[in-house]
Amino acid sequence: MLQQVNGHSSGSDAQGRESLREDLQEFLGGEVPLHQLDDLTKVNPVTLETVLRCLQARYTADTFYTNAGCTLVALNPFKPVPQLYSPELMREYHAAPQPQKLKPHIFTVGEQTYRNVRSLIEPVNQSIVVSGESGAGKTWTSRCLMKFYAVVAASPTSWESHKIAERIEQRILNSNPVMEAFGNACTLRNNNSSRFGKFIQLQLNSLLVPRDHQMTGAAIQTYLLEKTRVACQDSTERNFHIFYQICKGASADERLQWHLPEGAAFSWLPNPERTLEEDCFEVTREAMLHLGIDAPTQNNIFQALAGLLHLGNIRFADSGDEAQPCRPMDDGAVRTSALLLRLPEDPLLETLRIRTIRAGRQQQVFRKPCSQAECDTRRDCLAKLVYARLFDWLVSVINSSVCADPASWTTFIGLLDVYGFESFPHNSLEQLCINYANEKLQQHFVAHYLRAQQDPIPPELTRLLQQSQDTLLKVLFPADPEEKSQEEPSGQSRAPVLTVVSKFKASLEQLLQVLQATTPHYIRCIKPNSQGRAQALHREEVLNQLEACGLVETIHISAAGFPIRVSHRTFVERYASLRRLHPRAPPDPHSPSPDEGHSEGSPHAEQATLRALLQDILHTLPALEAATPAA
Ligand code: ATP
Ligand code: MG
Repeated sequence: MLQQVNGHSSGSDAQGRESLREDLQEFLGGEVPLHQLDDLTKVNPVTLETVLRCLQARYTADTFYTNAGCTLVALNPFKPVPQLYSPELMREYHAAPQPQKLKPHIFTVGEQTYRNVRSLIEPVNQSIVVSGESGAGKTWTSRCLMKFYAVVAASPTSWESHKIAERIEQRILNSNPVMEAFGNACTLRNNNSSRFGKFIQLQLNSLLVPRDHQMTGAAIQTYLLEKTRVACQDSTERNFHIFYQICKGASADERLQWHLPEGAAFSWLPNPERTLEEDCFEVTREAMLHLGIDAPTQNNIFQALAGLLHLGNIRFADSGDEAQPCRPMDDGAVRTSALLLRLPEDPLLETLRIRTIRAGRQQQVFRKPCSQAECDTRRDCLAKLVYARLFDWLVSVINSSVCADPASWTTFIGLLDVYGFESFPHNSLEQLCINYANEKLQQHFVAHYLRAQQDPIPPELTRLLQQSQDTLLKVLFPADPEEKSQEEPSGQSRAPVLTVVSKFKASLEQLLQVLQATTPHYIRCIKPNSQGRAQALHREEVLNQLEACGLVETIHISAAGFPIRVSHRTFVERYASLRRLHPRAPPDPHSPSPDEGHSEGSPHAEQATLRALLQDILHTLPALEAATPAA
């Protein structure tokens, strides 16, 4: 690509002229073939159709990344492209004097953020918001960026600190398979769909090492795990990967211990015959071990998960008498789940079948048998409660394993892999367009998941789990000191009930505050087709996504400024040699200077200088042509 040649700043006139010719050719919309247009702001005219044609041409040429002003567009290749993510290429982007001059890549964004944390421009903390529809490649992109930082942010001076850095990076990378095993599932749209939002803060120490900063730790924050999936899956989808992993990967001894005989049928385990590369139990175990989750603790976790699978097999039949509780259709499922969750069997059955109501001034306790549907709901609720606590606990364990001592890091780069919406205190047209489209996806999400999850949890369920003798469940459900207040007579104030929505809202607000205090970068992932096929770009599907994310508007806004954006210093360094060809007339003392009224270095002064220089160059063109030998 021409720009790569230009990446090296030249001191010689010939190189300067060549740079200029190429930049101007691109600027004036010369003969650059569509697939070589690295920036969509240079498409002329900018319409959905032309943008699509450019992306299509690039996709056909196996070029998956394109700049669109402030956003990087990432087309999902749906095939392995190892050379595009090799450590050598990562180092190339890291070492480039001007990475933005190389081909557009997520590593450009990665490197830019990495350099910015050392800049003097506030805010120095950076964030990368990766968005796009399900299956577009957000998690893949985030994972690649984490690998990029692990490679480039590991240049400590001593061998000892090198080993420490390597260990922490390995742990950070190991968090991915664990989080994905417990939080991802095969859906209609993506075999490895993230069922939670994730914000990972990569913590860097910019002070100790003179040139490069070192990744010293990370902190992970998750958002709204789709816990409904534990107990309720579409017939064409699957439960979380981890359930399939334990069923397929357990050893003979473990099968006995966890009551998972070969070929056992579980109603919460649809489509077990589908084999996915995500089903690798060994990878998850290995990663857990590296994160400090030892074999006995792992055993507890997997045993509890097997207990949930047996819980899902409990079916109830109406007793035919409202005053009598429903009866379980298979005592075996109750017994085995109680055994694996180490819960007393009778209270388990009682809690699932009988509701406790407190009423009256004295808060008398009434016991009401549940209908069959209510029993099912309580069973599902119990499973969701255990799974959600387990997931949160895992995140906290991972955090304690990867989080750096606050004194050991100075800056951070945040990576956000969420459902594709954005909301900041100051929203521009871009956010308006993005959110308008995302609203529609979001409506579906809210209707489908939030309402389904709105877990109030009957307090008896939590009390039941507090009776477990299992060491892990004891940690997940500690005896509640607030329990006493619930037993107290009415008139005593109670803590407000935290709904899923209010917790979600609070955690999102917190996230937005963090993002607002960073310099944001955007990567928009686009899914070329919904079948996950390589080399197939379905125009309608891509058009919908382009429209949905308001990409054309983003490009228009970016293009409304100067099409070539270079800093004053870079511009002068690059084109200073031309002054000798066409010296500028000394300024007329009577005419106002272009910089007049603006302090040096201000955006106005910089723009005025650039405009003047651009005029210079346009005047210089004929002289240039004459001076340049024909190719
Ligand atoms: P969801 O919102 O459902 O979690 P997502 O946007 O996170 O979806 P990913 O899981 O990252 O989507 O990507 C879906 C699949 O696309 C991956 O499992 C992988 O097979 C493929 N894929 C994504 N990006 C790339 C890439 N850069 N190179 C090769 N394959 C990719
Ligand atoms: Mg994902």
